[in-house]
Amino acid sequence: MSTPADYYDLNRIRPEVLAVLNRINEMGPTFAERAFAIDEAASFPVENYRDLAAEGLMTLTVPEEYGGHGFSLGEYAMVGAEIGKYCGATALTFNMHNSTMMWARFMYEMPHLTETERAAFAPLRERQFRRAVKEQGIYSQPISEAGQNWTSKPAQTQCRRVEGGWKINGFKKFASLAGYCDYYSIVCTEVFDGQDPRHEDTMNFIVHKDAVGLSVQGDWDPLGMRGTNSRDLVLKDVFVTEDDLMMPPGIFIKTLPNYPHMMATLTPTYMGVAQSAFDFTVAYLRGEVPGHPPIDRRMFTTKRLAVSKMYARLAPVRALWWQAFMEADAFPSQAQVLRMYAAQYNVMEAAQEIAALAIRTCGGQSMLKSLPLERIYRDSRCGALMLPYTSEIMEDYMSVLTLYDVDEFDDAPGDEHGARTSLWRGAAEMPLAAE
Ligand SMILES: Cc1cc2nc3c(=O)[nH]c(=O)nc-3n(C[C@H](O)[C@H](O)[C@H](O)COP(=O)(O)OP(=O)(O)OC[C@H]3O[C@@H](n4cnc5c(N)ncnc54)[C@H](O)[C@@H]3O)c2cc1C
Repeated sequence: MSTPADYYDLNRIRPEVLAVLNRINEMGPTFAERAFAIDEAASFPVENYRDLAAEGLMTLTVPEEYGGHGFSLGEYAMVGAEIGKYCGATALTFNMHNSTMMWARFMYEMPHLTETERAAFAPLRERQFRRAVKEQGIYSQPISEAGQNWTSKPAQTQCRRVEGGWKINGFKKFASLAGYCDYYSIVCTEVFDGQDPRHEDTMNFIVHKDAVGLSVQGDWDPLGMRGTNSRDLVLKDVFVTEDDLMMPPGIFIKTLPNYPHMMATLTPTYMGVAQSAFDFTVAYLRGEVPGHPPIDRRMFTTKRLAVSKMYARLAPVRALWWQAFMEADAFPSQAQVLRMYAAQYNVMEAAQEIAALAIRTCGGQSMLKSLPLERIYRDSRCGALMLPYTSEIMEDYMSVLTLYDVDEFDDAPGDEHGARTSLWRGAAEMPLAAE
């Protein structure tokens, strides 16, 4: 499966990005080999991270002035999708690390920040970039809190002012990399006496893994993406200071709604998973899967048709997804947001459809645990349910964006307590404040 990323127009990819894509495809077979044991034990791809760090690939989106690669969101996404071909759990956790770096990079660069805000932001993000570059620090991004869409209510993890800083209390569900990262990017709400928690008071702190009061709890024995090690994170009176802020207060809420592509970064992983299901099927039918008898199954018309069907599903999804990510930027147009929603939806749905077809087409022996397809199948099932852009929520958002004008969005019929808060609402300063 060590193939170049030739499903893209390679002429449109910068040479330094192409070099990374090629390097991932050289490293990939080792990741794929390790994926069996990681999946079996639901452990963490520690060695893959060591290899990625040794190649200097933990700083893809860190600006060049701090020693990073300075890749755009779309360029990072292509790398994530190549990793996802070999080990979904590595790609998904790698995304949490890169998302943290991207927030620090792109939220700072957004055009509507004032000079004062930028001046306060600069030393905070520099601190994190230096850690990522010099210490090769690994960052996680546990936002989910279980049983609620984290963009629909102020985060229930809360911080409160104390002398010299804040104390954080709360709980994060599905904290991928829990126990394996160096830093946790904690999104929480600052609370004040006599006032209900508000979106405007969302804060983002970077908490060191050994901070007093921080603990990783619970079991981790899921259907798929087992190597993400997404256990529970409990924060009890965790003390943080202004230096631990990832960005100044107010910036998170001011920027995130105006860069909605930043919440679509789970898709590179599943783009890769979909590709791996297809690649496996082709290799299997040709009798070229290592460790499996070289049986040629290409003579069956029905199998050939199924492969065509898989390719016909995969190719347009790749094209749409690529366009959506290559045009990703702050303050997108409505058409760009709609394309991104459609790409998110299609990737998450197509990954599982293609993996299911792969199992059906390859047949009985392909389900054996000695081959990667059954893991790919299980991993592929996990994407559509990941908040904030689940497939159901994307169906709702696409309907609103196609059928209503921006000034009608808030009146568009929807479920009470629905997931509309993360819906893009045009170039607004603080759309979440209305909640
Ligand atoms: C392998 C894996 C790794 C993950 N890693 C991370 C991570 O590193 N960081 C992180 O933050 N999260 C992570 N997640 C969590 C993920 O993004 C979701 O938050 C989580 O799967 C939601 O599950 P739930 O059962 O808590 O919520 P669900 O019950 O699925 O949804 C929670 C709430 O969202 C709202 N909601 C959901 N669907 C709709 C709808 N159709 N319409 C209206 N409202 C809706 C409702 O309020 C609902 O109660 C991970 C998940 C998986 C499976």
